[in-house]
Amino acid sequence: MKKWNLIVDVERCHNSNNCFLSVADEYMDNEHPGYTTAMPKHGHHWINILRNERGQAPMVDVAYVPTMCNHCDDAPCMAAATGDAITKRPDGLVIIDPDKAKGQKQIVDACPYGAVWWNEEKEVPQAWIFDAHLLDRGWKEPRPVQACPTGALKSIQVEDAEIQKMVEEQNLEVLHPEHGTKPRVYYKNLNLYSKCFVGGSVIADIDGVEECIERAVVLLSKDGHKVAETWSDAYGDFKIDDLEPDSGAYEIEVSHPDHPSKYVEVTLGESTYVGTVKL
Ligand code: SF4
Repeated sequence: MKKWNLIVDVERCHNSNNCFLSVADEYMDNEHPGYTTAMPKHGHHWINILRNERGQAPMVDVAYVPTMCNHCDDAPCMAAATGDAITKRPDGLVIIDPDKAKGQKQIVDACPYGAVWWNEEKEVPQAWIFDAHLLDRGWKEPRPVQACPTGALKSIQVEDAEIQKMVEEQNLEVLHPEHGTKPRVYYKNLNLYSKCFVGGSVIADIDGVEECIERAVVLLSKDGHKVAETWSDAYGDFKIDDLEPDSGAYEIEVSHPDHPSKYVEVTLGESTYVGTVKL
């Protein structure tokens, strides 16, 4: 049986919010009987874009991570619901029945992702239903996927074995795997949000003038073992990414055939720009 999955490429998300707006347009003031009641005008973010700013000036980047109901295969919200209020469809989608879930606020608390929103007026828990009502009418993809101008969202309906192959081949990750809920929303390039970088700029005196040094070899080590190696670019800048936050002390060796090497110690809490390294 082919099931729906969503792949979010963090590198492609530019925070345009078009996914959020398409959901607001589809559900605000619109009833979809059997699927969901209307979304309230304020307070709900069925697609919620997280943001992480990394580094210090002049080396700063920002990653955006759209989050939503993960349509988990082992969904704690289902376990917390009573009277079949939540259904796992054969196509993988998790639907909170707007009538049966009335008054069941415990469903909101049961979701470890905070993906369920409480509709105070209607007294129902609500989450993004992957536009199941449209897919059931023959739509090929949900509206947020259509609306994203950078192609950061991709929906695919495939056998589980195929998505597992993609997970391995493309290094896809899920948010908080420690929850053990088997999400159907996968992330590409999540390291841009969840991991750290260390960067710097290499310069040297050449004929009495401070110049950027290109192609300096930058070696990052921890406890005497090589962690990563890179080169400075045309502006002398280097950046080594995908490091664990709060991972402690590292040593950076910067070398270039025309200059003496330089060593810099850095303790990584969050992403760090070590400044200029003068050879
Ligand atoms: S993300 Fe939350 S609401 Fe969605 S299926 Fe998983 S546990 Fe349920």
